[in-house]
Amino acid sequence: MNLYNIKHPEQQVNFAQAVRQGLGKDQGLFFPEIIPQLDNIEELLDLPLVERSQKVLATIIGDEIPTQTLNNAIKNAFTFPAPLVKVMNNIYALELFHGPTLAFKDFGGRFMAQALAAVRGDEKITILTATSGDTGAAVAHAFYGLENINVVILYPKGKISPLQEKLFCTLGGNIRTVAIHGDFDDCQALVKQAFDDAQLRQAIGLNSANSINISRLLAQVCYYFEAIAQLPKEKRNNLVVSVPSGNFGNLTAGLIAKTLGLPIKRFIASTNANDTVPRYLQSGKWEPNATVATLSNAMDVSRPNNWPRVEELFKRNGWKLTNLGACAFNDEQTEVALKAQFAVGYVCEPHGAIAYQALIEQLQPDEVGIFLCTAHPAKFKESVERILNITLPLPTTLDKHNQLPLLSEEMDADFIKLRTYLLK
Ligand SMILES: *Cc1c(COP(=O)(O)O)cnc(C)c1O
Repeated sequence: MNLYNIKHPEQQVNFAQAVRQGLGKDQGLFFPEIIPQLDNIEELLDLPLVERSQKVLATIIGDEIPTQTLNNAIKNAFTFPAPLVKVMNNIYALELFHGPTLAFKDFGGRFMAQALAAVRGDEKITILTATSGDTGAAVAHAFYGLENINVVILYPKGKISPLQEKLFCTLGGNIRTVAIHGDFDDCQALVKQAFDDAQLRQAIGLNSANSINISRLLAQVCYYFEAIAQLPKEKRNNLVVSVPSGNFGNLTAGLIAKTLGLPIKRFIASTNANDTVPRYLQSGKWEPNATVATLSNAMDVSRPNNWPRVEELFKRNGWKLTNLGACAFNDEQTEVALKAQFAVGYVCEPHGAIAYQALIEQLQPDEVGIFLCTAHPAKFKESVERILNITLPLPTTLDKHNQLPLLSEEMDADFIKLRTYLLK
């Protein structure tokens, strides 16, 4: 598999290099040179998730990774289902939150970890990341138990929810968690200092497991296939998929799936009040506002970092951006949508509610709509319970971690101390 840097197309890398480096020169995003057209989509749709994903990803990635290695990586990453649930006559929910950290990022994060382990060679790797909660949990669970990969996660002591802390600070093994005496910015600054320290970087094989990593997107392509595989055959022809979008990785993966030949008529980019993209599609002007805090806080992004990949795909396929649907809902509208879903018997959370509402407003009578549910309702327990006036039980995964002791160490926000700790 050959990839190029969108900012500097002369920079070309293979899959292994793209996975290890994350980003190209000038923070440019890597993008596949060729996205093959699959001619056996119907056959693929008849297969179970893991087997189908092995075939789809082998076609994209090529023979750079031995078949058995790639197959194992996929099998180890995709250990949970992505059920399609009928919500109304022509509207379905794709539930992507049945993984260990109850969010769709488990798909991308777990495959990235497996891919990194597969392409690493003999190199020792240390993943260092700062978190204000969610990403830390996803990274910790994705890398847990992988040989020769150490993970160090910094988080601000006392500034993340106790439940979140339990989710990733109780694992042990190759996962070390450090509660920093400071805030999230202090944690991020420490990580940055570590990456700027060439000697340290070399000594422990520092890697960021960046959210922009191409392996994440390839993993996410697989659940679009899984969605359609679960639709009755007569409903597969006029399909619209609504994607709750923050950094637009999820939407990029859907567009790659369409490029591969998956029958999706069109997509809707659904956002909250951070509506840079919906405004851009209206006016043609890229004018990010200051980011505002919303109920759907994983989409509080005003400069979506995957957007260049979306534009690249439209350009290369000769598609028109005017065919990309868009919607932006504020918190008040999000609450109304969540209640409307509840009224038809489906408990959702703010991100999924926004994607649902976009279908309600934009789906034509002859179309079938799928909205993606990116997080378990219990992850947004407080909002969901308040808005719907219900009590949500804690899912067993969360409850299990909640019973375990915390294993974190504490540290001042002091780079020299962190450096010593990392070299230990
Ligand atoms: C990360 C995230 C999103 C946004 O996904 P992107 O790929 O960044 O667009 C949406 N919902 C939830 C719950 C998330 O964690």
